[in-house]
Amino acid sequence: MNKGIVIKNMNGYYYIQDELGTIHECKVRGRLKKSRYSLLVGDRVEFSEDGFVECILPRQNSMVRPAVANIDQVILVVAAHNPDINELLLDKMLVMIEHADIPVVLCVNKYDVGDTSTDQLIDKYKAIGYQVITTSATAKIGINELRNKLLHKVTAFAGPSGVGKSSLLNAVDEKFAFQTGDISDKIKRGKHTTRHASLFSLNTDSFIMDTPGFSAIEFTDVTLERLPTLFPEFSDYVEACKFHPCYHEHEPICGIKEALANHKIFESRYDAYTIIRKDIQNQRKRF
Ligand code: GDP
Repeated sequence: MNKGIVIKNMNGYYYIQDELGTIHECKVRGRLKKSRYSLLVGDRVEFSEDGFVECILPRQNSMVRPAVANIDQVILVVAAHNPDINELLLDKMLVMIEHADIPVVLCVNKYDVGDTSTDQLIDKYKAIGYQVITTSATAKIGINELRNKLLHKVTAFAGPSGVGKSSLLNAVDEKFAFQTGDISDKIKRGKHTTRHASLFSLNTDSFIMDTPGFSAIEFTDVTLERLPTLFPEFSDYVEACKFHPCYHEHEPICGIKEALANHKIFESRYDAYTIIRKDIQNQRKRF
């Protein structure tokens, strides 16, 4: 039996790249088609010589939006400038990625136009415990380090439009010819194209997922109990809370509020926590 990874799903066909890098056009058998466990881009599968997917190998993880499986890491890209970093949006995206339980690397691109505030932000997220790399797609800074991070993995690139995701991928490997440009160009183009998630192969065991919709932020399935656990730096201080669960807002004797008062937790992170908490409460009221 052949083994491979689903890199694209189009018009009922699944495109599967085998271990040697050859792409096979396959269909699924009725049995798999009927199962609710449908085949996703990123699935590792066994398939027959005559082009039928026989079985889906166990998944490491899967997401609904976009519908993909087995992502090893997310590279979350922000720009030092143009568009400027929106820390609340960054924290919301980090929370979503933590919720999906996928390792994340923060990539600060456009470092060529950064200033001291860029370095402060980098130091802050490193202090929280995140891996941070700095790049410039145009000035070719940090491209080798970025390429090394991609080896032997399936990586999803996420981040706001215009931060340089396409430019970075083109800098990593010239065979990628992603369209780059300013935001208004992309919005115009986007109107006429429906995009499905697909994987681009860097080599036989390194893949990049183009992630349409990944930046859509919905906290519908994050519970109020789980939310504090999605801020990794909080875990050092929750022991000191008197109540369990503690929501770290109005409770007396709270390890998180104490850490905040002692500047062990960044104020902006605590603020992001309370804002997301309110978002979740408001969403619940609507249902
Ligand atoms: P995407 O929407 O995240 O894929 O962003 P693009 O790759 O299309 O880049 C958006 C704009 O930013 C383009 O005009 C790029 O030329 C520019 N850009 C991308 N990377 C850099 C960088 O490292 N430095 C600077 N100064 N501009 C960049």
